[in-house]
Amino acid sequence: MQPDLSPEEAKMVGLAREIARRDILPIAAERDRNYPPDQAYPWEIIEKIDAAGLRTLTVPKKYGGFGARHLLQAMVTEEIAYGDLGVAVSLDQTYKFTRLLTDETTPDQRDRYLDDFLNDTRALLALATTEPQSGTDTFLMYDEPGAGPRMSAREDGDSYVLNGTKHYISNGGLAKYYFIFARTAPEKKMSEGLTCFLVPRDTAGFTIGEAHSKLGRRLLQNGELVLQDCRVPAENLFGEWNGGLAILRRMVSGALIPVMGPSRLAYDLALGAARRTGLFSEQWARMALTEMYMLIEASRTFLYSAAWHGDRPTDDSKRRLMSKVFASDAGIKVCRMAMEIWGKTGDVYHDDRPTPEKCWRDVLSYLHGFGTNEAVKLKAAPLLAGEGEEEW
Ligand SMILES: Cc1cc2nc3c(=O)[nH]c(=O)nc-3n(C[C@H](O)[C@H](O)[C@H](O)COP(=O)(O)OP(=O)(O)OC[C@H]3O[C@@H](n4cnc5c(N)ncnc54)[C@H](O)[C@@H]3O)c2cc1C
Repeated sequence: MQPDLSPEEAKMVGLAREIARRDILPIAAERDRNYPPDQAYPWEIIEKIDAAGLRTLTVPKKYGGFGARHLLQAMVTEEIAYGDLGVAVSLDQTYKFTRLLTDETTPDQRDRYLDDFLNDTRALLALATTEPQSGTDTFLMYDEPGAGPRMSAREDGDSYVLNGTKHYISNGGLAKYYFIFARTAPEKKMSEGLTCFLVPRDTAGFTIGEAHSKLGRRLLQNGELVLQDCRVPAENLFGEWNGGLAILRRMVSGALIPVMGPSRLAYDLALGAARRTGLFSEQWARMALTEMYMLIEASRTFLYSAAWHGDRPTDDSKRRLMSKVFASDAGIKVCRMAMEIWGKTGDVYHDDRPTPEKCWRDVLSYLHGFGTNEAVKLKAAPLLAGEGEEEW
């Protein structure tokens, strides 16, 4: 599926492809293997991405960005993810939460933060709900007092004081601004007592804890956020007091994930190796490559259709949720088949360059990230029967 793009949109996709192949792919394998989790992020590449106008892709034109629609966002992050999924996720998180910064902030918050976000070539965004005590219960939004985040926030004069720990946060340790969800009425359920706060990285009492060592997406930092008597000014209340769940619902729309990048790379590596070594003449390799191609095309069509509807009144959250599950499951299969072909060619022992094995580890992260696939299916199921639409 090749969607119709305007010449300006096609140019942005082309720039992303160029950066991925010229700047990211050549360094990704080495960083993936040898760099500690808090040092693997390639900041110099984010500066190139920024210079190409890609960091601010989803900022509306009236604020000086490109004003990208969801479909373009999906295509750009797919291209970047061909170079490395971690870099693409870092950008994708920023794209998603840029929409919060531009569309849901108060004029005062926009005045204070948007210019800085636009002008700082390294400014990234993050959103934090997950805690050691809560993950899927937050994602599935079990609406009972015991479920959901435990981090607390209390009013104190003209500020709020936050206490607690988040973990697994993408861009944790990298972002400049964080959207953090805390309990403002701990005895109540999430729909009545969860609030979102905009917390700048340099806020006193806010530190980055462990940078998690992960199996895949290793260039991206996933970190622990530790808030100890972290005092956030009253103006940084984001959205309504006790209205955090509504924001979370809009964010947990799933999909538009850049998982196609590593799947495509694994396929290209396998096809190249099969042709180089003569393996391509064997029937099983031909069948495997054909199946990989079909899975990639089906996943891409599903993801693009979810993005395309996301730009229209026909937006359909079950399509976005399901395409996340389908494309990540399919990506695992594609990478596994690519590894088999790679292994047969003897290249399996050379892991100093992009390999299907890295692609596979990277795709694995999407079985869990942005809601586990089990949880996403449970979230989508009621929508099949027309239940729960009003929540979205
Ligand atoms: C790479 C990565 C990036 C992430 N980035 C972020 C981020 O930026 N911000 C953020 O807030 N969080 C982030 N997360 C956290 C992620 O959203 C959670 O890991 C996820 O919601 C699952 O929560 P958990 O890890 O606590 O697992 P648990 O909730 O403990 O689940 C463990 C297992 O039990 C299953 N399970 C749990 N409940 C049910 C149920 N009711 N029915 C069926 N199965 C169930 C789950 O599917 C899973 O397999 C990230 C995670 C990963 C892996």
